[in-house]
Amino acid sequence: MGTGTAPERTHDPETAGSSAPLAHLSVAIVGNGFSGLGTAIRLRQAGIDDFLIFERHADVGGTWRDNSYPGCACDVPSHLYSFSFALNPDWSRSFSAQPEIHAYLQRVSAQYDLDRSTRNHHEVLDATWSEPDRHWRVTTTRGVWTADALVLGSGALSDPSFPDVPGLDDFAGEVFHSATWRHDLDLTGRKVAVIGTGASAIQFVPEIAPVVGKLSVFQRTPPWIMPRRDRPITAAERMIFHAFPPVQRLVREAIYWARETFVFAFRDPKRMGKAEKLAERHMRRQVTDPEMREKITPSYAMGCKRILLSNNYLPALDRGNVEVVTDKIVGVRADAVVTADGTAHEVDTIIAGTGFAISDLPISHRVHGRDGRSLADHWGGTMFAHNGTMINGFPNVFTLLGPNTGLGHNSVVFMIESQINLVMDALRYMRAHRIGAVEPRKDAQDAFVAEMRELTAGTVWVEGGCSSWYLDANGQNSALWPTFTMPFRRRLKNFRPEEYVLTPARS
Ligand code: NAP
Repeated sequence: MGTGTAPERTHDPETAGSSAPLAHLSVAIVGNGFSGLGTAIRLRQAGIDDFLIFERHADVGGTWRDNSYPGCACDVPSHLYSFSFALNPDWSRSFSAQPEIHAYLQRVSAQYDLDRSTRNHHEVLDATWSEPDRHWRVTTTRGVWTADALVLGSGALSDPSFPDVPGLDDFAGEVFHSATWRHDLDLTGRKVAVIGTGASAIQFVPEIAPVVGKLSVFQRTPPWIMPRRDRPITAAERMIFHAFPPVQRLVREAIYWARETFVFAFRDPKRMGKAEKLAERHMRRQVTDPEMREKITPSYAMGCKRILLSNNYLPALDRGNVEVVTDKIVGVRADAVVTADGTAHEVDTIIAGTGFAISDLPISHRVHGRDGRSLADHWGGTMFAHNGTMINGFPNVFTLLGPNTGLGHNSVVFMIESQINLVMDALRYMRAHRIGAVEPRKDAQDAFVAEMRELTAGTVWVEGGCSSWYLDANGQNSALWPTFTMPFRRRLKNFRPEEYVLTPARS
């Protein structure tokens, strides 16, 4: 791989661990969540040690560090929602809560001694490709580095998205987002507005409903909610997983393949009928008020938006101190949220459960490719990448959980690990063949994007009758991998040089 000119500044005393200053990196990794951590581990295992993870916060964990709202948990079973090379026999429940997942990531990071390769409080402000040097110049809040390759592990759930509601700035009470929960604020007796009824809101609403004075849930689109088959994992099971790791692997495989079968229904919305009936029965059991049921029954096909799992959200809506408001929010004033019917809903706290900037990734505004344009400009509102990972015009960049890699049915950790396979094989190939820069050929990338469009046609995501963040501002599915995940794993297993433009390393 290319060796560039010397960087201006390389060492900062505020590092996560202690290490000799690195002048030039083989790989710069942005973000220390599942993606960044997984890449770092694989690099270490391959004997590549001259890499750094740049993390803007003070700890490992990414979205599982940031989202600490009450009730935060994963809706993918724990045995599957973990690295294949670091199974955790000690999961306490079938669906783990956030603190346990965060602790798992901290443990794995320590196990691979990643502190010394991490620079906390180093937010990446800019990364620009230098064509003459064939390297990336990475500017952080605490210094500048150069790197042969850049792995974007900042994901899609890193930057909270606030609703664009007029007057929000004039609100006299407390306002915060579910991803930056105000643990210092006692909600007891408060009059709380929750905006949004997505995966996060349905987890924290049941936790706060019993303590707040009044809770107004502002629902724009009702979600489909299925029972959550959660249970404690017994001590005996854990003992077996410790003693016989292959048993845990078998359980993991079984969960994986069971979830793969969901794809049949996503790809053929008519097959969603049975699951919809199950969800309707779940609602009838949990919500007694027919008027409330009417309000919260979705009018689109299940799967069009993410299917949510909960046993306690619907009963929370049935409480006397909880109301569901379906009128559109038109503004906020000092003491109230105002809806289109003219009602001022008096509140002293607003919690935005309004998700993340997914289709306009903030990091894409900070990465500049060969022609100097930002990735965001290059994408023009519709993200795309060859194999969901590499982008023509942006040499040696790997976007993990970037375009077309999100899932509605299975574990994204599987997708991340598949992408890391490609990163590793590409780096291996570059070293073996003295390649300085690699980027997908435009025709290969175009063919991939066309395939994504073809595979998306007819699916529930476009035919289901809803609008969702799965589709971007241009109406394109640039977020989801629209089919089974095993072909993705196979496709990314080996770096295929014929699909790429390869530039020799500088001698
Ligand atoms: P989300 O799924 O994007 O939901 C956002 C909610 O806010 C939706 O109900 C949306 O309504 C509503 N909303 C957005 N802007 C609004 C506005 N201006 N006025 C009124 N309502 C507005 O966000 P999230 O629940 O935070 O979840 C984000 C991601 O994290 C998802 O991918 C989710 O699956 C993931 N997540 C996963 C887990 C897990 O267990 N693995 C847990 C939590 C979150 P519309 O539906 O009408 O757009």
